[in-house]
Amino acid sequence: MIAMRGIPVSPGVAIGKILLLHGEDLSVPRVTISEDDVPREITRFEDALTKTRAELLGIRRKISQELGREHSDIFNAHLLILEDRTLIEDVIFRIKEDRVNTESAFSGVIQKYFQAFSKIDDEYLRERVADIKDISRRILQNLMGHSKDILVDLKDKVVVVSHDLSPSDTATMNREYVIAFVTDIGGPTSHTAIMARSLEIPAVVGLEGISREVATGDLIVVDGSRGIVVVNPDEETVRRYRLEARKYVELNRELDRLKDLKAETLDHHGVDLSANIEFPDEIPSVIAHGAAGIGLYRTEYFYLNRGDLPTEDEQFQAYRKVVEDIYPNSVIVRTLDLGGDKFLSSLELPYEMNPFLGWRAIRFCLARVDIFKTQLRAILRASKYGKLKIMYPMICNLEELQQANQILLEAKEELSKENIPFDGNMEVGAMIEIPSAALVSNALAKEVNFFSIGTNDLIQYALAVDRVNEKIAYLYEPAHPAILHLIKMVIDNGHANGVWVGTCGEMGGDPLLAILLVGLGIDEISTSPLVLPKVKKVIRAITLTQAQELANEAMKLNTGHQIKKYLTERLKEMIPELIENLS
Ligand code: PEP
Ligand code: MG
Repeated sequence: MIAMRGIPVSPGVAIGKILLLHGEDLSVPRVTISEDDVPREITRFEDALTKTRAELLGIRRKISQELGREHSDIFNAHLLILEDRTLIEDVIFRIKEDRVNTESAFSGVIQKYFQAFSKIDDEYLRERVADIKDISRRILQNLMGHSKDILVDLKDKVVVVSHDLSPSDTATMNREYVIAFVTDIGGPTSHTAIMARSLEIPAVVGLEGISREVATGDLIVVDGSRGIVVVNPDEETVRRYRLEARKYVELNRELDRLKDLKAETLDHHGVDLSANIEFPDEIPSVIAHGAAGIGLYRTEYFYLNRGDLPTEDEQFQAYRKVVEDIYPNSVIVRTLDLGGDKFLSSLELPYEMNPFLGWRAIRFCLARVDIFKTQLRAILRASKYGKLKIMYPMICNLEELQQANQILLEAKEELSKENIPFDGNMEVGAMIEIPSAALVSNALAKEVNFFSIGTNDLIQYALAVDRVNEKIAYLYEPAHPAILHLIKMVIDNGHANGVWVGTCGEMGGDPLLAILLVGLGIDEISTSPLVLPKVKKVIRAITLTQAQELANEAMKLNTGHQIKKYLTERLKEMIPELIENLS
């Protein structure tokens, strides 16, 4: 039994068998085998070749249909390598002669091919090294069962353990069968963590080295509320965690009873509690958790995992469905926020040293007006079918906001000329997630109807803490006084200009911090649907005056630690059983 502690990113307890995925480097195990095992290893090799061939034929067909024959022909070279008799015979010979497992035999032979090809003085043949690398990687993945595609074709419930999971892995995985996930790297507001919360599956990240310690099939307990995992637990541990899992379900059942009650303080001050989504199919969960609407629809997921860009019509249909499904509540559609830890496979963007500070989000959209306008037109068209608001991510100065609004105006003019209807009064907002935007929020407020504070990024940029880096996750502190001052400044500037102010980062999902936000005057809190009932419960347990007093006192303190300690102690006096249960 091994117990490890990482960063808790999605609450709940799961107990199940591990499915181990590897990162980029497939480390090939060398295992000595007996003579009796030789036929089995040869069969495994042949099966892996057959499977790889079928995969390649599938890819070739798809590329040929989508991009034409000239592009699909490159896979002919891959297929030829697969059929190379010398290679196949060499591998079989090594299995028999060296008595090693197929992976090791194959890897040894293929290394010799690399070396031989790299020395050749013919550019065309030298380029075939890349093909051999690609094909050998596929064969090894098929031999070791490490292909990330297996996340799509799952048949049994598993806990996925991996060095890392990208947002596109989590987006494609079969959500019915993944009961938890655990990664070596990542921080609390990485998009993989956010996705775990949206999918309501327990997750722990930043468990350095776990993917090297475990094997597929090992039993694992994942405590996503405390950030603990136990590999190959003893019976007593399993029993204890089964009890925890039951308690967690009961607590949620109790919280679900709040679903239809208002999110308002004891003295009837209402706060809009909304939910964040990445996919339209999360709407039933949004409704089930009693959200007042969708405060952030992350549309970039629509662009991930595909070889082309979504058309205006495709986007229109998707946004329209969200607008109609959430009606009579409203949805805030955020325009494309590509970059950071979210990359689009369909756009070959240059590699950047600092993607979080790079050519991303609104910066990208203002440079690629074609892509931006297509999305704006689709959003506008959908606005006709319910209550839709729009907001721009990563605004860093007034000019950017004005340019975005100008392009929106052009999109409206185009639609009007084409007699295509849209909501002419659609509210427009700016996300405030860069400290510079918070500091000039008085000027920004003149251009919009609302602000939505993106605390995930605001904290990252204000504290210079990469939000996906587990090594510095201890510095990622939402209660840092600098963050509270920035938030207060945005709320005050917004209100002074008649602009309502919400927040859509994960910070609002922490019941203690949500009270602080209410005390600072926030009008709306949007966060993962899963945590909304907890937030509603604490908001309903205090008065606005109490929240304001807490916020005022907290703002006088000098560190995030002091602020959290103060809040916990005060709330323990005010609502003891609630704080015990919820934290
Ligand atoms: C944020 O930055 O707080 C936010 C809500 O946006 P995202 O997490 O998608 O960057
Ligand atoms: Mg952000």
